[in-house]
Amino acid sequence: MIKSFAYVRPTSVDDALEMLGADGARVHAGGTDLMGCLRDGVFEAERVVSLRDVPGMRGVRASTQGVTIGALTPLAEIARHSVIGEQYTALARAASVVGTPQLRSQGTLGGNICQRPRCPYFRAGFDCRRKGGRICYAVGGDNHGHAIFGGVRCHMVHPSDTAAALTALDATVVAVGRAGERRIPIGDFFVAPSVDPTRETVLEHGEMVKEIVLPPAADDQRSSYHKEGHRRTWDFALAGAATALRMTGGNVAEARVVFSGVAPVPWRSMAAEEALQGNTLTPEVIGRACDAAVEGAAPMRHNAYKVGLLKGVLEKEMLRYV
Ligand SMILES: Cc1cc2nc3c(=O)[nH]c(=O)nc-3n(C[C@H](O)[C@H](O)[C@H](O)COP(=O)(O)OP(=O)(O)OC[C@H]3O[C@@H](n4cnc5c(N)ncnc54)[C@H](O)[C@@H]3O)c2cc1C
Repeated sequence: MIKSFAYVRPTSVDDALEMLGADGARVHAGGTDLMGCLRDGVFEAERVVSLRDVPGMRGVRASTQGVTIGALTPLAEIARHSVIGEQYTALARAASVVGTPQLRSQGTLGGNICQRPRCPYFRAGFDCRRKGGRICYAVGGDNHGHAIFGGVRCHMVHPSDTAAALTALDATVVAVGRAGERRIPIGDFFVAPSVDPTRETVLEHGEMVKEIVLPPAADDQRSSYHKEGHRRTWDFALAGAATALRMTGGNVAEARVVFSGVAPVPWRSMAAEEALQGNTLTPEVIGRACDAAVEGAAPMRHNAYKVGLLKGVLEKEMLRYV
């Protein structure tokens, strides 16, 4: 049963920040993750602050400076937006494979990147590392869905599809708090468990994501996202890849490769990027990039399959560019 809480709907950013400053206050965007967390006792709230009536936090604005997406923009709107679909395809594809149509029309981009981990131990009330405990139960337990990279202290995988795409597209998160606004490069937004296993983002209590900014897309840039899960719908990534490539004359001038479903944060593979950069996408080059991508993987007892799966996902992605 959900412990009772106050529910408030501020009508300005200033009011929202005032309300979020209170102890036990939580942001409510679409509520598709938040309400499950409250119902299952993952955490409690004294006050739930809905952002629904705060003006200016929803919608996509495109200009010569790039694209700005309000944190409250529903994923379905992002998935079907023409500029995002053409110039930032990875994000449109990632938004279009989140959960189900209902989740995509209710769930927002801000909520997607701030959602809490799906690790069954974390969700089921174990006093795990992420809850401040001393044990990651995945190490000795069922770890088929867990990390093969970056699993230091906590082995959860980051659940967001769009986080990988936004990282490949070099987005900036604009956060706002009572101390003002700050622009956080997406690569600095997520917190690895080696730094602090009890938090997923650098947001401080009382801060919220206001918008996400994508830099102007180069004329020769293309991008993509693909994930594999247990099912084709209503499922999180077991392994996914967001890629952004600049191609000149058949050669890869610049590459970004970021994985979902395999690490506690969106996992950028510099090794795969290096294997691609300056080369034509021949089967040999793609094969070398796939091998490089899994260098350093540290699978556990039940998730070694993710090594091969990830290579397959990246190969499939690369073939889209050929
Ligand atoms: C059955 C099911 C399947 C799912 N499948 C997927 C999937 O395949 N891929 C995937 O990526 N996700 C999936 N999700 C997770 C989630 O529902 C979506 O990611 C959704 O986008 C979350 O957005 P929301 O607006 O509903 O967030 P909320 O539930 O409102 O919020 C989520 C969390 O983020 C915080 N938050 C929300 N907005 C902000 C903000 N602007 N600033 C600061 N903090 C904020 C909230 O306090 C809360 O802790 C699934 C969820 C369910 C229940």
